[in-house]
Amino acid sequence: MDHLVQHRAIKMLTQNLRPCIVVLETGITKPKARALYRELHGVAPRSGQMRDADSIVRTRREFMAASCIMSFYCELAPNYESGVDPEAVMAAHRIYLEDNPPASHCITLNETWVLARALRSAEARLVTCPKCTARYLEVARQHYAPACSHC
Ligand SMILES: [Zn+2]
Repeated sequence: MDHLVQHRAIKMLTQNLRPCIVVLETGITKPKARALYRELHGVAPRSGQMRDADSIVRTRREFMAASCIMSFYCELAPNYESGVDPEAVMAAHRIYLEDNPPASHCITLNETWVLARALRSAEARLVTCPKCTARYLEVARQHYAPACSHC
């Protein structure tokens, strides 16, 4: 395996990104990703379905957090419409963790990646609020009427 690819995979797995995401982002095989995860964390990765973007942001609090993380992400990854930038996903999520008290954390790194993928596929978008100019996230099939999460 390419040394650089392995290095990127390890970095992502260390941050707790799920093996299925690391497979998509680096092209390493699924068994390899799972083995690396087990090596790094001492436990087998959880398997199971990834959540859909609309199920990640169900409450106002989750919308506020997601809007804020995705605003960071889009600044860090100006080409977010052409592909997910895993480095920017990790950086945006880290800023969110650092800026907010642990008790308020409600969006995980894996969920941040799912939202970044939704932005790329236009399943989600950032809208600028005409009233307060903050950017907020709008997700297809979201459970309540799209509205600014800040106003
Ligand atoms: Zn607003």
